[in-house]
Amino acid sequence: MEEGFIKRLITTMKCGVCGQHYEVGNVRVLGHRDDLWFMSVFCPSCRSQGLVAVVIKEGKLPQVVTDFTEEEQAKFRGMEAVDADEVLDLHDFLKEFDGDFSHLFSKGEV
Ligand SMILES: [Zn+2]
Repeated sequence: MEEGFIKRLITTMKCGVCGQHYEVGNVRVLGHRDDLWFMSVFCPSCRSQGLVAVVIKEGKLPQVVTDFTEEEQAKFRGMEAVDADEVLDLHDFLKEFDGDFSHLFSKGEV
């Protein structure tokens, strides 16, 4: 999967705070673990910063997940239009994930 693809995907997303569309230059790809890609985004309009996770699988539409708060996870679980397996995968991962990106990405995958 190319970073360019992911950055184009990000430009279809809006800032959760002010609704401004992100631009390619506002996104930094942090790395990925299997199908789960992490990015940091910066909103040029309201200057809020956030983490974005995208689940990307071959032949499937990407699932975009923003932020890692309890609230967001609950919202994601409540969505009906997504593939249940993917939600479970991500939910399991988030349960294990302690928020330490430097540790996650020092395992040689990136
Ligand atoms: Zn904003």
